[in-house]
Amino acid sequence: MREYVSLECKKCGTRNYRTPKQVKGEQKKKLELKKYCKVCRAHVVHTEKRK
Ligand SMILES: [Zn+2]
Repeated sequence: MREYVSLECKKCGTRNYRTPKQVKGEQKKKLELKKYCKVCRAHVVHTEKRK
């Protein structure tokens, strides 16, 4: 079963990415990835958001 989450820019709140979440039991804390945000025009930390 695949679970997709959105990655939301921490700075402006724009959802820029979607990624399959790896459910490994231990990974219960929120994902934080540094991704490029079009709105901020910079690499910003993105946090996962469920649909
Ligand atoms: Zn942003």
